Amino acid sequence: MSQKLQAVRGMHDILPDETPLWRNVEMILVQELDRAGFDEIRLPIVEKTELFKRSIGEVTDIVEKEMYTFQDKSGDSLTLRPEGTAGCVRACIEHGLLRTGQLRLWYLGPMFRHERPQKGRYRQFHQLGVEVFGTSGPDIDAELIFLNARWWQRLGIADKVELQINSLGTLDERRAYRDDLVAYFSTYEDALDADSRRRLHTNPLRILDSKNPEMQGLIEGAPKLLDYLGESSRAHFRGFTDLLDAVGVSYVVNPRLVRGLDYYGLTVFEWVTSELGAQGTVCAGGRYDTLVEQLGGRPTPAVGFALGMERLLALLEGSQLARKEAPHFYLVRVGAAAERASTVLAETLRRRFPGLRLIVHCGGGSFKSQFKKADKSGARYALIVGDEEAAAGKVALKPLRETGEQRILTQTELIEFIENRLLV
Ligand code: ATP
Ligand code: MG
Repeated sequence: MSQKLQAVRGMHDILPDETPLWRNVEMILVQELDRAGFDEIRLPIVEKTELFKRSIGEVTDIVEKEMYTFQDKSGDSLTLRPEGTAGCVRACIEHGLLRTGQLRLWYLGPMFRHERPQKGRYRQFHQLGVEVFGTSGPDIDAELIFLNARWWQRLGIADKVELQINSLGTLDERRAYRDDLVAYFSTYEDALDADSRRRLHTNPLRILDSKNPEMQGLIEGAPKLLDYLGESSRAHFRGFTDLLDAVGVSYVVNPRLVRGLDYYGLTVFEWVTSELGAQGTVCAGGRYDTLVEQLGGRPTPAVGFALGMERLLALLEGSQLARKEAPHFYLVRVGAAAERASTVLAETLRRRFPGLRLIVHCGGGSFKSQFKKADKSGARYALIVGDEEAAAGKVALKPLRETGEQRILTQTELIEFIENRLLV
């Protein structure tokens, strides 16, 4: 017997009983983006490998270990995108979008990272990303947080997520800090785990991001980047927190929040939850004022974030948003003449009422077996056509969700019923 084919490890099908939640959530997310003036951009899933190396940074988890990289038939090294920012910046430079002043963009789609699969951590997962270009003040940073907060409010999870913020300052400030940080951790080199020891001389800030519980004490005692910020960086951070305070969005300053990617500076933030175990970061982002120039564009300040859709959906388990909208009608028909007449009727109704949800039974079968399917479909009414109704140009209407008699209607009466009772 041939072996059963299975999906690639860590890559999941989203099944029909899960898609209603995805779509309802996506609709709410997109509505709020529209309301605040963000425009959608759709980007390729594959980019040249070099793009990610140059933007994300050579010594990050993503570039070191997690990328799906392959050679295509022309010998180019390509990579399945592990995140969206790099491709978005590449597209904006390539199409000259940054010349027009401010740009507020979003995208939604799959990302790929070769990680160890576990709950909340997959090899193909989905992000909704937002990137804003051309404005450097803390006002837009706060605007992104307010967008997030409205999302959580509308989705009913505001009490499940906590906002953590930090400022990474400028490159120079981080350099001074980095030296002290290396000196600090070097004193305790024996206590560092293998990952941290490796990072000590490549990317020491990332040690602060370690999830190893045994490292936490040491990290707790490390110098804090906020103490190294100059006046301008401090003012930026103060401007940010002032706006959060003004609107009443609560937050925690987490001096160890450094983010996993190299291109961040000044504002960084994460929305975290305690409900998903170790995979607690649902949405994360920050400012990356140097990336556009680094990728060959003119210097352009930028800020953005990515929302992990699977983690967000995990927080919404059991939510009303998982419900599928029930059909109005399930059309039951038995007999050749009935099938023909009712097919015409169904198409007449569908064309006339764009809001009508109508399932036409196909494949024949007895009234009894069709009624079972009608019931299972969740439809509010069965429309029933036998050869007798077909000959008389009529249809029977039977309520499936409430008590009530079956009624025989003419086509005109049925249309009136839909207009005046069903779709009002
Ligand atoms: P983590 O620390 O959990 O590995 P990260 O810093 O690598 O996260 P980002 O690159 O900032 O994550 O991605 C933004 C968001 O995308 C994360 O906060 C998370 O919600 C989601 N995400 C990242 N990697 C995965 C994954 N492998 N599976 C599912 N969601 C993910
Ligand atoms: Mg990661």
